[in-house]
Order: sequence, then structure tokens, then C-alpha cells
Amino acid sequence: MCSDDPAAQQGLPVSVVADGGKAPSPAADSVLADLVAANRILYRHRVVDAFGHVSVRHPGSPGHFLLARNMAPGLVTPADIVTHELDGTPCDADGRGVYLERFIHGEIYARRPDVQSVIHSHAPAVVPFGIAAGAVLKPVWHMSAFLGLSTPVFEIRDHAGDATDLLIRDRGLGVALADCLDDHSVVLMRGHGATVAGASLKEAVYRAVFTQANAELQLQAQQLGEVNFLTPGECVTATSSVGSQVDRAWNLWKDEAMAGAVTS
Ligand SMILES: [Zn+2]
Repeated sequence: MCSDDPAAQQGLPVSVVADGGKAPSPAADSVLADLVAANRILYRHRVVDAFGHVSVRHPGSPGHFLLARNMAPGLVTPADIVTHELDGTPCDADGRGVYLERFIHGEIYARRPDVQSVIHSHAPAVVPFGIAAGAVLKPVWHMSAFLGLSTPVFEIRDHAGDATDLLIRDRGLGVALADCLDDHSVVLMRGHGATVAGASLKEAVYRAVFTQANAELQLQAQQLGEVNFLTPGECVTATSSVGSQVDRAWNLWKDEAMAGAVTS
């Protein structure tokens, strides 16, 4: 076997990465609890299934982020949260596998100081907008005005050729994806999925759920006729007014998602 990956050379699963760096002070239990809730909410709303992940920037150390170990989001508990440096190095994985695509999170945090939470998913509803020629995911209702006038599509072939597994496996691809996201809220990933950024964990979850809903509605509307999208002015005004209601959605969704859940 030929591989430059140290884990592969040692016969370890490629998701097992040695800890490095110095872990910051542990995040508060409430932060971990909300991150667990976000995992459960996204699973409940079909944004993630066995795959996909959600992170939050460490509240006490902006150079670190919190992300579950390599596992299905719907099963995450506080004990599964791993602290990572922005370059993707885990601080306290302690031999547990970490997500191969953790570079998505770290490089967006590095580029965008305003971003406090990142969600990556393979939500089927959004995939068509990354693969159909001429398709552009745009807001069709006020709930997804944050999409703005267009949603960029990341083409991995432009950066890594036409024989990859389409995964963001290293920092270079993470940087390229973050560049494509630029100052948008959402970036589609051709043949793969989407990544959503938010100014808070609650906002990112809200945006991920309503990005998927917008994709479903836009596809339905386009089958009926020419679509009347939000105007630039409506995008700005609705993003401000509807976005201020994020707590209302979060409180409901968290209550639903955590009912009966094992949390430790
Ligand atoms: Zn992925």
C-alpha cells in the first residue's frame, strides 16, 4: 500500500489522528449541551443522517472549535465532543476517530471571524442545485432570505482534479471551500452537499433547516412556472426581521429533539 497518511501507514483508521497542541479550558456544560442538541435537531429535521456534522467555535478560545468525534450526529452526547485547533488537529480525541472533513470547519473559522458555528451536510434536497447546469439556489420565501441573491457552488475538480472522493480531506481544500463561501451564508458542494455558516450555533441550525426547506420549495415552484424570487431589498429586510426570531425556532426544536434523549 502506498500512502502518505501516517495513520494509514500504521494500519490505523484514517480518522484516528494524534492529539496535538494545548487544549484550552473546557467549554461550559451548557455549550456542550447546546452542541448535542444541534446534532439531534439536524438529524430530526433530515439535514444530516448518518453523515454530516456541526461545530461551534470555542467560546473561550477563538482559535479552537468543538466538534463531535467521528460518529452519527443523532447519537452524539457531551462525552463525544472533541476540541480541535483551527488546522484540524484534535486536542483531546484520546485515540477516538475524528471527522475526515473537519477542515471544512477550521478553515471557515480561520477566514471568517464573524462565524461562530458551521454545519456540513449531505442533505439530498440541496444536492440538485449543485449539479444541474444553470441551477441557482435563491430565496423563494422570507424564512431563507439569508441566502441572498445567489448561492455559490464549490467545484472540487478545480482544486484536486477529477478523481477525488469529493471529500474535504485536507487544509488546502478547506481553504478553497472557505474562499468559495466568501461572505455568503451557504456554499453548495457539487456532487456532495452543502456547508452553512452562522453567527451563532442557533443561527447556523436555523439556516441549515431553512436552506433545505427553500430547496424543496424552489424545486416545487419551478415545476409550476417561472419563480418569483425575493428582491435584494426583501433579502436584506427579511434577514434582519426573521433572523431575530431564531430563538423561537431553537427553543421548540431543542425541546422536541431532546425529549427522551440520553445526554451523558
Ligand atoms: Zn461531506
